[in-house]
Amino acid sequence: MQLDTIETGRLTISNVRKGLASGGSAVALAERHYTSIEEQNCSVNAWLALSRERAMAQAERVDRQFLSDSNAANTAGPLAGVPIGIKDVLIMQGAPTTAASKILEGYQPPPPYDATVVARLEAAGAVLLGKLNCDEFAMGSSNENSAYGPVKNPRRLEHVPGGSSGGSAAAVAAGMCVTSLGSDTGGSIRQPASFCGVVGVLPTYSRVSRYGLIAFASSLDRVGPFGRNVRDAATMLGVIAGHDPLDATSSTRPVPNYVAELEASSTRPPGELRLGVPPEYFGEGLDPEVREAVETAIRKLGEKGCVIKPISLKHTRYAIPVYYVIATAEASANLARFDGVRYGYRAPDATTLSEMYRRTRDHGFGAEVKRRIMLGTYVLSAGYYDAYYKKAQQVRRLITQDFLDAFNEVDAIITPTAPTPAFLLGEKSDDPMAMYLADIYTVTANLAGISGISVPVGKSKADLPIGLQILGKHFDESTVFRVAQMVEDLQ
Ligand code: GLN
Repeated sequence: MQLDTIETGRLTISNVRKGLASGGSAVALAERHYTSIEEQNCSVNAWLALSRERAMAQAERVDRQFLSDSNAANTAGPLAGVPIGIKDVLIMQGAPTTAASKILEGYQPPPPYDATVVARLEAAGAVLLGKLNCDEFAMGSSNENSAYGPVKNPRRLEHVPGGSSGGSAAAVAAGMCVTSLGSDTGGSIRQPASFCGVVGVLPTYSRVSRYGLIAFASSLDRVGPFGRNVRDAATMLGVIAGHDPLDATSSTRPVPNYVAELEASSTRPPGELRLGVPPEYFGEGLDPEVREAVETAIRKLGEKGCVIKPISLKHTRYAIPVYYVIATAEASANLARFDGVRYGYRAPDATTLSEMYRRTRDHGFGAEVKRRIMLGTYVLSAGYYDAYYKKAQQVRRLITQDFLDAFNEVDAIITPTAPTPAFLLGEKSDDPMAMYLADIYTVTANLAGISGISVPVGKSKADLPIGLQILGKHFDESTVFRVAQMVEDLQ
């Protein structure tokens, strides 16, 4: 296989591997991606920083390995030579890390260590191209909350790419990297994947280390991959998942070989799969074209032999308020550390300590981050704690129980990823409530700790991608990938 004859937007991890095995060069591949970034980033705005030196040094290592070892195709790491981008909420040694916020702009020195997921990617041979734009501190659904300007949807530039990992989805969709990492607290991997027409995975809570992830809401945050197909996403998850002694919350369960399981499952009968369809996710507010695309896919899965079962997730309507109480409460605590003393920006000319804190946070944080800190502080304050925060935790438990009950009857659940295709830039930016509703189908999985994926399921008449969401049991990513592969094969 000739690597340089394939457009960067069509490359997959297996193409890269075959290409390198037949004499292709990882250095040339990295250069082609940097050229693609140069050509497109002025319009898409997906990258905040490039780590060219580190990427080229790694690409040279990979090339040397393939030159010196004729068996490298079998012995090289699973991501050898694969150009990858990292959402800028993950720490990468030597690279500026901003979480797309002014409060961390120009922070010196740059991080002295790698997030565990970043280190694992590189150990698997990945070529890390740089840091990807996102909503400030991962708060948003459109990528319009970045202090460094919005990311544009490469499929149609006047539309948003989704958020908060909009840069990670857009860069894969536009051929500026082969795969990427994002983070998902309430939908931030799945929703942009659906808007940009790529695959995005929400791993089970604790499946992937959060060491080196800038915290937004610690009980909801996950790190996960984007890819152009289900197999690439499965390969990525296999590399980053698994226990990390540096993250006490990371699970010690062994990590399955997701790709091998995916291959093995392709010969198993679809009739053993029971797929649940919850009416709560197909109600008011669902765009007719999204409904049509998702229902068509469900019908075809049924025709292939899967058992399609209606199920009920009856507390779904409380998910958005519960999420915005819990996520903001945790965010207000996590963001207290950005105080002008320990990290980044400090307001000049303050005469007292409290004035310094106030001015630093006032100048450093954007409007959405401030809104969330205020809301979170409010729901945690003495007089309101029981009424809001405690109540939200109780309802969170009910939402989780809905899923546990459903998973007694079905192996996976199918829903739309988002109620609409990508909306226009500016369309919802003045209306936080409308923006929050973009996550109506995704926040439940974060509240319940379960696994999920968004996989492309066609396009709207306006040529915008539509995503289908599959939700799976805790630690059952293998079934999620299996169903996702079947959906991908329908396209
Ligand atoms: N859009 C949601 C929010 O604004 C989810 C964000 C995320 O998953 N990081 O909070």
